[in-house]
Amino acid sequence: MMEPADGHRYFEGLAVAHVLGGLDDSKGQVFRAHLLECGDCRARVGELRAIAHDLAEAERDERRMRAAQAIDTKRRESEDEDPDLDDVPEASRASRVTVVVGLALLVGLSLWNFTLHGALKTAQHTNRNLVQAAVIQDSGTPWSTVREEGGVTGTVTVKDGRFVLTADGLDPAQVYGLYAITADSEIPASYIFQATDEGRVEQLFALPARVERILITDPGDQRPGTEPSGLTVFEARPTP
Ligand SMILES: [Zn+2]
Repeated sequence: MMEPADGHRYFEGLAVAHVLGGLDDSKGQVFRAHLLECGDCRARVGELRAIAHDLAEAERDERRMRAAQAIDTKRRESEDEDPDLDDVPEASRASRVTVVVGLALLVGLSLWNFTLHGALKTAQHTNRNLVQAAVIQDSGTPWSTVREEGGVTGTVTVKDGRFVLTADGLDPAQVYGLYAITADSEIPASYIFQATDEGRVEQLFALPARVERILITDPGDQRPGTEPSGLTVFEARPTP
């Protein structure tokens, strides 16, 4: 086979396009033929595929992070003492940076670079929110689910001033409200969120002091407000 004047670098460039599915028929044929006889390029394609897979995972994490946003910033003093409560937006930003940097590297990559894959993995593994959510689910205190409407099922698990909400059977097109309510009917924390395409949410939230009800509301055509509106599809309370 005839190689272009710039030699093997030509095929290294094609490897990126090959993984991204951007090669036309004739170039694709040339590159596949080259792959059969070049172990370097086979390894390179494998590594690029792994990076693409990690990027897709990072994007999914990012979507999950963005699924919940605070409606307001009402904070109790006790919350402000805990610096970790600001973790959600920080992790979200970090994840976005990971995706943007990762995409730039993937598209622009023209040199064989083993360290790239490792760096990306490290960035993802520092996603503390996901790790903490898993820990809380494993070792936290489950609250009692006292209401499930419209096919929604869910759990609330509490630990150290936080809770993990999991819910299924949600409408992916609906924007839901999530409210933490005290015995005095105060609402020290409220959020809006959307479920994944599978109708699922699994998310870590701050649990302000004295909260004893967690509600999910479906406000219908309205946007969720600072107070519950529409249909309450889920409610959990501390287990007596
Ligand atoms: Zn090659």
